[in-house]
Amino acid sequence: MPVGTQGTVKAVPQDTLEALGAEIILGNTYHLYLRPGHEAIRRMGGLHKFISWPHALLTDSGGFQVFSLNELRKVTDDGVRFRSHLDGSSHFFTPEHSIDVQIALGADICMAFDECTEYPADRRRAEESLRLTMAWARRSLDHFRAHSHEVPWFDPKVRCMQCQCFGIVQGGMYTDLRRQCAERLIAMDFDGYAIGGLSVGEPRELTLEMIAETLPLLPKDKPRYVMGVGYPDEIEQYARMGVDMMDCVLPTRAARHGLLFTSEGRLNIKNKQYAEDQNPPDPLCDCLVCRRYSRAYLRHLMQSGEALSGTLNSIHNLAFYLGIMKRVRDSLASALDNSGAPG
Ligand SMILES: [Zn+2]
Repeated sequence: MPVGTQGTVKAVPQDTLEALGAEIILGNTYHLYLRPGHEAIRRMGGLHKFISWPHALLTDSGGFQVFSLNELRKVTDDGVRFRSHLDGSSHFFTPEHSIDVQIALGADICMAFDECTEYPADRRRAEESLRLTMAWARRSLDHFRAHSHEVPWFDPKVRCMQCQCFGIVQGGMYTDLRRQCAERLIAMDFDGYAIGGLSVGEPRELTLEMIAETLPLLPKDKPRYVMGVGYPDEIEQYARMGVDMMDCVLPTRAARHGLLFTSEGRLNIKNKQYAEDQNPPDPLCDCLVCRRYSRAYLRHLMQSGEALSGTLNSIHNLAFYLGIMKRVRDSLASALDNSGAPG
């Protein structure tokens, strides 16, 4: 899932996302709540209509951003008080309020409000954080079930269209805490399950270990989502392990800094060696950037600080990421065909 923090996957227009085959994008509750405001978006018919994205949207709970505001926040059992990074104004987020904001935005998938445990965290800290996450998961889901029909696009005649709520497994880097959390969330019967609190600075082997230990605990017949990963080889590895959904700002953020992911590895387009390189960014990629432009041109745009630079780099990186996932899906589909399994 490309990440559209402020109602835009940075530098990439919606029609281009469609052409790239993106089926779902992420919106950030914290940012959209502060600006333009969830009630303004509700009045305009919801985020789909506001940003002209007639496809699936997932919103995060806002928790991750709020907890990133280290000095600007105060946590209690009830919720989190924080100061806006925009104007310093004071706000209070509870699980109920987070769900209200996500419903006002009109998300297809809402995330339970959780506390993302930082890394490193000692066991006591991870246990305390998990206690909050599990209590907040219960409150998020109860509030969601009572109010999900309030999404701006709800049509009582079309019953198949339903907003969903996913629970988030936390537990720091302690596998027994993760197991305990997964079991409790499954008992609550969420529509899908996410593994959160990863990619927070821990070594990659630890990320892998946490996914490998947690994933088999989660129901296979519901979406399993690993939040905030990763590099191209990681997302392929996790998808092959059975992860259904992932989101990451990396393809677009790296693109804006001139880092391209290619079939030949990482390519820093700023390097002087590409100054007169007439090859496409990735000779094996057939995205609309690689079909049309050279490395030399992309380097020139970057060197000149041209806005088109971020756009073209992002389009290629998104095409590369979405291409990986398509190949994984195709190979799973043909493995199923060959096994003679129905459908
Ligand atoms: Zn390309």
